[in-house]
Amino acid sequence: MPNQTTLRRKLKAAETKHSRLTNALAGLGPIRKGTIYQTRLRCGSSGCRCQRDPDARHGPYWLWTAKVEGKSKCRKLNPMALKLYRQQSKNYAKLKQNIQKMESEGYDVCSPLQKAEDDWVAHTAEIHEQTLMAEGDKVNSWMMGANIEDKKPRVLIYFGGAGVYYDKLRESVDAGFPELQFDKLAS
Ligand SMILES: [Zn+2]
Repeated sequence: MPNQTTLRRKLKAAETKHSRLTNALAGLGPIRKGTIYQTRLRCGSSGCRCQRDPDARHGPYWLWTAKVEGKSKCRKLNPMALKLYRQQSKNYAKLKQNIQKMESEGYDVCSPLQKAEDDWVAHTAEIHEQTLMAEGDKVNSWMMGANIEDKKPRVLIYFGGAGVYYDKLRESVDAGFPELQFDKLAS
């Protein structure tokens, strides 16, 4: 049974952008910690009514906040970023649930079943093909991860719709991560 230190170390590893576990989880893309919420903001101009009247504040805007390496970060999200950040937050939640499952059931190792990984990559590519984005992405944009060296460009954003994506994550969690194989290290 992993102790607290082990769990913290595992979480730390999971939070690392290129952690092996993140990449290994079948179909799971980048993860993102933090909170996404909608709010109205005051602008910078001192003469603006928003400075005194809460009803005159601008927005609403979507914001993301998180503590990164001890510092609070905040970012305004445009619709494209909002979509991406939400997906990454869901990925993070799933990863956390995965670690909790491993912890509570005493597993030490998890790895994606190759078939699940292949299915997901194929499904994501198929959905992407059906969108107009595919045309633009033929030039190898960052969304395909073409800017990451030593990695074959592939579709990094799921275009099947947020609802479908979240349902799939939820299904996987509810079914006990059928696309993953859990093992115990010989002690
Ligand atoms: Zn203002």
